[in-house]
Amino acid sequence: MAFADWKALKKIDAHIHVLPDEVHEANPDANDVWVYADMHRYQTIMAANNIEKAVVMPFNDPCLMSMESTVDGVHRALCKLKKQYPGQLYAYADVDVRNSQSETVDAICRAIDDYSLDGIKLHPNNSGTAIDSDYNRAIFAFAQERQIPIAVHSYPNTDDDVSAAKRIVKIAERYPDLKWIVSHMGGFQWEVLRSIRCYVDMSAILPEYVHAYGIGRTNEILRSFGAERLLFATDYPDSRVLRSDEIYAAYYDALDQMDFTEEEAERIGYGNAIDILGL
Ligand SMILES: [Zn+2]
Repeated sequence: MAFADWKALKKIDAHIHVLPDEVHEANPDANDVWVYADMHRYQTIMAANNIEKAVVMPFNDPCLMSMESTVDGVHRALCKLKKQYPGQLYAYADVDVRNSQSETVDAICRAIDDYSLDGIKLHPNNSGTAIDSDYNRAIFAFAQERQIPIAVHSYPNTDDDVSAAKRIVKIAERYPDLKWIVSHMGGFQWEVLRSIRCYVDMSAILPEYVHAYGIGRTNEILRSFGAERLLFATDYPDSRVLRSDEIYAAYYDALDQMDFTEEEAERIGYGNAIDILGL
């Protein structure tokens, strides 16, 4: 049986970070990982790695993503990136919890309808707002009604972390028709998520699973979700364990050793993301 060649496979990276040019220009002396979050550099990486499209995630921290430090500023910057790289970049709307719930829903509405963004990103740890807090209710109701995907950061350190898997299960039960992507697969609380209807993206966490569990067990964990629910995603250029320029090679090295067929890999690496983006 031939298994997939992940580098050669046409892919969508369902979770990356690039910063707008004006943020880079304002920080010419930066020498951290975010120097890599640059579309000029990333385009070369896309071409070399058969990444046809990538989904840019904001941080729920407007200071990182726009010079004006407002959620509308972030959405305009993301819209501009999408227009600069048509068909290559997609982007999720941001949330700034300093705004009221209705201001947040209005901003998301503009992001989707006027700036053509593709989903909503919630980052409970950056915003300090638990995923199941009352603040998010209006967002979930809006997203469920409009069938807008929500990607939620979940890489919890403790059982009652603001992004804990059990909080996500609670929301999934309350909003059964929500289109969910749980980013980082709920970290080491992945098992709790198996019972709910959600996609999981393997960004950031795949190298950590391989490190903690080895290839065979990681393969079983991914399989326990099934190809229909998995998304190829890296969190480029951010990683707790890898240099930015090592990330893709580490993903291929791990995935090439697993037992996903060409057809399953196409689902995980491309088809599921196409479905979520509605393309
Ligand atoms: Zn991320």
